[in-house]
Amino acid sequence: MAAQETVDHKYVYDFSEGNKELKELLGGKGANLAEMTNLGLPVPPGFTITTEACQAYLATGREPDGLAGQIEAHLESLERAMGKRLGDPQDPLLVSVRSGAKFSMPGMMETVLNVGLNDQSVEGLAAQAGNNERFAWDSYRRLIQMFGKTVCEVPSEEFEHALDEAKHAKGTHNDLDLDADDLRGLVDAYKKIFLKHTGREFPQQPREQLDLAIRAVFESWNAERAVLYRRQERIPAELGTAVNVVTMVFGNLGPDSGTGVAFTRDPASGAQGIYGDYLANAQGEDVVAGIRNTVPLQELEQLDKASYDELLGIMARLEEHYKDLCDIEFTIERGKLWMLQTRVGKRTAAAAFVIAGQLVDEGLIDLDEALHRVNGAQLAQLMFPRFQLDHEFQPVATGIGASPGAASGTVVFTSARAVELAAEGKSVILVRRETNPDDLNGMIAAKGILTSRGGKTSHAAVVARGMGKTCVSGADEIEVNVPAKRFTVAGQTVAEGDVVSIDGTTGKVYLGEVPVMPSEVVQYFEGSLDPEHVDNALVRAVHRIMTHADGKRRLAVRTNADTGADAARARRFGAEGIGLCRTEHMFLGDRRELVERLILARAPGEREAALAALLPLQRADFEEIFREMDGLPVTVRLIDPPLHEFLPPLEQLAVNVAVAQERGEDVAKEEALLAAVRRMHEENPMLGLRGVRLGLVIPGLFAMQVRAIAEAAVSCARGGGAAKPEIMVPLVGAVQELETVRAEAEKIIAEVVGDSGVEVLIGTMIEVPRAALTAGQIAEAAEFFSFGTNDLTQMGWGFSRDDVEGAFFWRYLELGIFGISPFESIDRDGVGRLVRIAAEEGRAARPGLKLGVCGEHGGDPDSVHFFHEVGLDYVSCSPFRVPVARLEAGRAVVETGGSDSR
Ligand code: ADP
Ligand code: MG
Ligand code: MG
Repeated sequence: MAAQETVDHKYVYDFSEGNKELKELLGGKGANLAEMTNLGLPVPPGFTITTEACQAYLATGREPDGLAGQIEAHLESLERAMGKRLGDPQDPLLVSVRSGAKFSMPGMMETVLNVGLNDQSVEGLAAQAGNNERFAWDSYRRLIQMFGKTVCEVPSEEFEHALDEAKHAKGTHNDLDLDADDLRGLVDAYKKIFLKHTGREFPQQPREQLDLAIRAVFESWNAERAVLYRRQERIPAELGTAVNVVTMVFGNLGPDSGTGVAFTRDPASGAQGIYGDYLANAQGEDVVAGIRNTVPLQELEQLDKASYDELLGIMARLEEHYKDLCDIEFTIERGKLWMLQTRVGKRTAAAAFVIAGQLVDEGLIDLDEALHRVNGAQLAQLMFPRFQLDHEFQPVATGIGASPGAASGTVVFTSARAVELAAEGKSVILVRRETNPDDLNGMIAAKGILTSRGGKTSHAAVVARGMGKTCVSGADEIEVNVPAKRFTVAGQTVAEGDVVSIDGTTGKVYLGEVPVMPSEVVQYFEGSLDPEHVDNALVRAVHRIMTHADGKRRLAVRTNADTGADAARARRFGAEGIGLCRTEHMFLGDRRELVERLILARAPGEREAALAALLPLQRADFEEIFREMDGLPVTVRLIDPPLHEFLPPLEQLAVNVAVAQERGEDVAKEEALLAAVRRMHEENPMLGLRGVRLGLVIPGLFAMQVRAIAEAAVSCARGGGAAKPEIMVPLVGAVQELETVRAEAEKIIAEVVGDSGVEVLIGTMIEVPRAALTAGQIAEAAEFFSFGTNDLTQMGWGFSRDDVEGAFFWRYLELGIFGISPFESIDRDGVGRLVRIAAEEGRAARPGLKLGVCGEHGGDPDSVHFFHEVGLDYVSCSPFRVPVARLEAGRAVVETGGSDSR
């Protein structure tokens, strides 16, 4: 038979056979248990069943050939090593069965302890533990409870309820007051619960317990919660989980035993020291379950100095070995220390920077590695103002940090009320069970959004991130009652009008107004904190890593800025020029009147007069910006939006005209305006008369702007400055459009610039798919391309951002159609492909063609890596994102092995 002809595939690895690089095969837990075993650390012996066995099981619905035999063999050698047998009534070997995938994953079956106990071996265990009946029966009832819950889906409340009754009968609240007889009674009660829910007796065969538990771990990979989590976190569904079978060690044998967790550094601040919790006379899950109060790890020194010293030694060893912060789970059995788990620990954004800096100081890693270990998302988090939580504030609920920031405000429950109170100048927090598209106005008006349901991809979360609003979603301890205009949490009622504070980074919710403090990292970037002199580990680490990133990166980082003030701030943040200066705001405010004249002009003279009046105003705007960006390139985009956006809305105008007519006033001008607005109305303004189309239709408009730019540059040059203007034509789809604009612009520039030495480049945005696909032609008429990835995404996908984010993105994200909004992070396969084609064909037609990006993707970490890969010269983003882009541009180089990918 086929199975006999082939050598069995290896499905089971002893801890001594694995190592930390084998996470994919052995899961994170198994790989690290193996690593510790091979380091000679005290790990209880055991073995790992591979993720491949899980994959095979899930594919066929049964254990793959050879698995049962391999488990048998490994079990036997475990029994030999321990001198005990599974199920031995006199001296049983007990094991734990623990799931562990490549990525740690809530929603999967966790752990069953004490596998191997039954009605006989419980007596043997008691005898072996020095006639400790209480311990043995306590272990047995835990097995039935954990096995029932995780393997057979018996509701855990039933067990909890029986436990409460036992304590009640005894007149106590403390588990430890239950004696052996009470626990024996509890085991009986548990068995009945098990029988009632499963229709069978609790399995007495240890090997059957083991096999069922292993199978349950396999199956938990496809549990609903696990599937959902994977989809959200983009974890591939085919990985599967490993299963670890570990010899039991007991922390519940008495006061000289216990269990704990530890970190090698503070995962919150990154500070060096000893951080952890310890619980005497307890088994694993008690520490996290919060049944009894843990003590700080330091107190173990008094309780058991030898174990404490050994643990500290091991922690130092692990840090040196992993070269990173490790977190650890351990148990002490009668004065003997056992390591049950370690992994590179999670940490806050601040700790990530501080630890990376420290590890460089300690010589454990180099600066490239430090750069690799932090990221732009963390840096962005550190740039938000934070709550000052030194004193009395305790969170009342914790949800998901869905959109970062710190916001305090008056609670409201409806969109309408949010709009009302915001109009009165109040900060409001919109609280909902979940939001839907009808809440959009309220979300715009609110300072922050709090929901009791939904995750990182819920409507609230997606829309809030798109708006840059603070949002906590899925705070499920909160019971929202919209009709009654209140919510309850932790036994308190919060009514409309009360104040709450939400932290969109940590997901924490506080009652009352928590004071906010500015970000030190921003102060550093702004130059008000000197990293050489300030006693702030975070600022020093950020400075050091940023400096390294700047030294490494190939991409330049520019900013999107429309005013001198923005330009100045961005320059302090490290911007190396402006990649997008929008000119539309220069047509707003008291200049609206000139725009109206421009639009209403009947005779050529009138239009020219309006343009002539706009010219000096524009020139002054540009002069200010060129001054602030002296010596650096400034890309000015000619006017982009449709002109009617500068006129009053149709409805308002119509009402004004009607009212004025009623009063018998002279409405000739308003009527003309109204007619113009009607004439210019577009069904699809996004695809209408805008950008270069407008410039080609309204005579003199672009010419005026070009003249203003050139004159401002010349005036700067005369004043001893160095303006480097780059004129950018928006929405070009065909080279002919650009050629037409270019011909006129070049004449004006030549005339204005004369012999001033000023050089003005002319280029285009690539934001219409046709432009990307004909980039070779367009490059003939362009000295630079700047990718407008917002429009390119809209037109590439055929949806408008304003309409879709609130309407259906949450559903698409939920369904996994995309993992992240394509407006947040560039869609590499589709829109990214357009960028790639345009970059390649543009450069082929014009070597040295300058390439940049000015959509919001320019400040998105993943997108920055993509733009590095396709060989752009620079990214441009909002001032606050400039440091993030600098950091990620440096990381992109380090992660591609320092090679220039162009
Ligand atoms: P999780 O992934 O949820 O941390 P673990 O598999 O680490 O689940 O198990 C949870 C806890 O159970 C561990 O921290 C440890 O205290 C306890 N535990 C697991 N295996 C053993 C064992 N062989 N001996 C003693 N305690 C164990
Ligand atoms: Mg664990
Ligand atoms: Mg655009």
